[in-house]
Amino acid sequence: MDFSISEQQQLIAQMVRDFSAKHIAPFRDKWDEEQYFPVEVFKELGKLGLMGVIIPEQYGGSGFGYFEYATAIIELAIADPSIALSMAAHNSLCTNHIYLFGNESQKQNYLPKLASGEWIGAWGLTEPNTGSDAGNMRTVAVKEGDSWVINGAKNFITHGKSGNVAVVIARTGKVGDSHGMTAFVVERGTKGFSAGKKENKLGMRLSETAEMIFTDCRIPAENVLGEIGDGFIQAMKILDGGRISIASLSVGIAQGAYQAALAYSKERHQFNKPISSFQAISFKLADMATEIEAAQLLTFQAADLKNRGLKMTQEAAMAKYFASEVSCRVATEALQIFGGYGYCKDYPVEKYYRDCKLCTIGEGTSEMQKLVISRNILK
Ligand SMILES: Cc1cc2nc3c(=O)[nH]c(=O)nc-3n(C[C@H](O)[C@H](O)[C@H](O)COP(=O)(O)OP(=O)(O)OC[C@H]3O[C@@H](n4cnc5c(N)ncnc54)[C@H](O)[C@@H]3O)c2cc1C
Repeated sequence: MDFSISEQQQLIAQMVRDFSAKHIAPFRDKWDEEQYFPVEVFKELGKLGLMGVIIPEQYGGSGFGYFEYATAIIELAIADPSIALSMAAHNSLCTNHIYLFGNESQKQNYLPKLASGEWIGAWGLTEPNTGSDAGNMRTVAVKEGDSWVINGAKNFITHGKSGNVAVVIARTGKVGDSHGMTAFVVERGTKGFSAGKKENKLGMRLSETAEMIFTDCRIPAENVLGEIGDGFIQAMKILDGGRISIASLSVGIAQGAYQAALAYSKERHQFNKPISSFQAISFKLADMATEIEAAQLLTFQAADLKNRGLKMTQEAAMAKYFASEVSCRVATEALQIFGGYGYCKDYPVEKYYRDCKLCTIGEGTSEMQKLVISRNILK
């Protein structure tokens, strides 16, 4: 397997760096403070083709594979992890779900708007009482004539308030039946579909996280995605790909924190020497660099399998689990290298330290990744 960075990936990385310097870096700290979700940034990302990275050109996407997608997320995460999180949720959860399981008419209707960034997408699986145990969901959809009527709530949903369209998984059969759930596409403005509480978060504060509420929300039968009863199975397949997103996001956070700490360790002098000359610091940097390399290789391995259409549940879980834990270890050590300055908002590591934690939780916690990996190796 050749995981060297292609010319295409280098171009994407440079494009994202240029974009971030102009559209994100000058405003990031203010937006973080205010917990502002900058919709306008995503419209601009759409112009660059980054809101439909893995969607074929015939539906308005860029038609790239997972290496290019991972590269874009890594670079965006270095600039701001929460913009990368939102971009990833839009691409690989909502948009990809419609692409993989929608019929031709649904693809024609939704994908060009999503891939261009005209519309922002949301994806609702989690509920207040069912996160890791998503298959136990209580939001129900009942068939009434030519419509489905949805009742319930989804929480912690990225773009739960501002998303123009949402893919929603709801119960259409018995609790405990993995074929008792169905995926629907629901447009903002549909009667009975409203936004609930927007979460006030530790990190990832530029990415909107909110509740979606369904009260006798009636949608036409043609809004079913794929087969009735396949919703949970579809969601698990979507999460396999989504784990490449979160692994990439983690690698980007770790790289950003590491690069900042490396530069600082050469500039900061104590005892008349740069702190990088102390083995306690240089060994931290060695551990960080090694773990980042390993996390990136696991991520690219999962991306390679995905590009080739091979099963990658275990590899994606390994990449997500390892990379997310690495991002937290690296952000912690980076902050330590900055000492007291790392604890303050004038330097970037404080934000990486807050943002990284989501990576060990979202799209399946580290504990759930270990469950997936152990089930695979013991079967
Ligand atoms: C910022 C953010 C964005 C998100 N975006 C979305 C989104 O767009 N769409 C969406 O559907 N969801 C989204 N989520 C939800 C996210 O996927 C869930 O938070 C996650 O799956 C964990 O569920 P939970 O929070 O209910 O925790 P729980 O499932 O309640 O877990 C609590 C703890 O128990 C552990 N645990 C649970 N079960 C087991 C077990 N069997 N064995 C061992 N340990 C276990 C967990 O690992 C965790 O440590 C988002 C969450 C956040 C914070």
